Amino acid sequence: MFDHPDFDHHEQVVYGCDEASGLKAIIAIHNTHLGPALGGLRVFPYASDGEALSDVLRLSRGMSYKSALAGLPLGGGKAVIIADPRRDKTPALMRAMGRLVERLGGRYITAEDSGTGEADMQWIAEESTYVTGLRRSEDESGDPSPFTARGVFHGLQAAVRHRLGRDDLDGVRVAIQGVGSVGAHLARQLKAAGAELVISDIDATAVTHLAEELGAATLPPEAILDADVDVFAPCALGGAIDEAACRRLKAKVVAGAANNQLATPAAGEALHRRGILYAPDYVTNAGGVIEVAWQRRSDYDRQAVIAQVERIGTTLATIFEHARREGERPEQVADRLAEERFRPDRPRAA
Ligand code: NAD
Repeated sequence: MFDHPDFDHHEQVVYGCDEASGLKAIIAIHNTHLGPALGGLRVFPYASDGEALSDVLRLSRGMSYKSALAGLPLGGGKAVIIADPRRDKTPALMRAMGRLVERLGGRYITAEDSGTGEADMQWIAEESTYVTGLRRSEDESGDPSPFTARGVFHGLQAAVRHRLGRDDLDGVRVAIQGVGSVGAHLARQLKAAGAELVISDIDATAVTHLAEELGAATLPPEAILDADVDVFAPCALGGAIDEAACRRLKAKVVAGAANNQLATPAAGEALHRRGILYAPDYVTNAGGVIEVAWQRRSDYDRQAVIAQVERIGTTLATIFEHARREGERPEQVADRLAEERFRPDRPRAA
């Protein structure tokens, strides 16, 4: 473990197994300096334990950075269950996971991620109080996607202001890759702000419906990187931007919801060299974690949540300005600012 390439001084890694329900899970707690480690639970049919471990180590580390820069009193953690969400998920499996979470006594708080939803969190809540993202009332779902989209919208606006010198989005051309939960909400907000949209998704029906609703242009998934636009918004899977993708982009700004958008650090360098402004993913897409963090508070206040989500734009503006002054890339500045918050005592290179 300590020599694992994705190990980064994680505080605790817990393996959980429950024979009766078939549970095979790993919880990784990366850092709890700012508070308990919050992060979603992913259910995925990993090909091996090793693949699951890599994923949970990387994802939990990412949550430390995300929560720190979102100004939350939370650390970074994540959990994975090795299972096929369509075939293997049962109430018994989720309850067993709930017991595993509960045994950590609140050091880790779980929530939805890919392969899990509100119903799963309800099963977990039968065994543990350390869960969020639950339905709050009959008409208020616990789905964080609209908040994520709102944060991306404000982040994208800050990036456009910095790179294109424009205060509004009227007529700004945006390509959205992936119009699922977050991408569709984002598209509607951008349209309302006057942006011109080009959308794509591997789900042809989702694209057609949304294009009709918003009067947006469409492109096949393999062509979206070449779109003649001002902004490219990756809202599908991670790793969308590698060096080859970077050479194809015509956009001047990359700002979207997907986690781990840069396939490698070299892709970030390539964007920078081409003068494409990158809004670091974990700063831009923190709206959802801000919402689920607030859901755990007894003084939940929707207006305060929205105000905090909208501050993502201000945080990014500060990062862009820092990067310009220091000649660094935005993702380098973001990482450093986050580490100063969650690892204040770490010795730094001179
Ligand atoms: P989602 O599954 O609802 O939507 C993703 C969409 O991308 C789907 O419609 C899918 O068909 C499409 N897609 C997949 N591969 C594609 C490709 N190659 N080209 C075009 N489209 C493709 O997921 P979501 O909740 O909207 O999340 C989107 C991204 O944002 C994910 O990377 C997720 O990890 C990240 N994210 C989501 C949240 C949230 O609150 N939901 C928060 C933070 C980060």
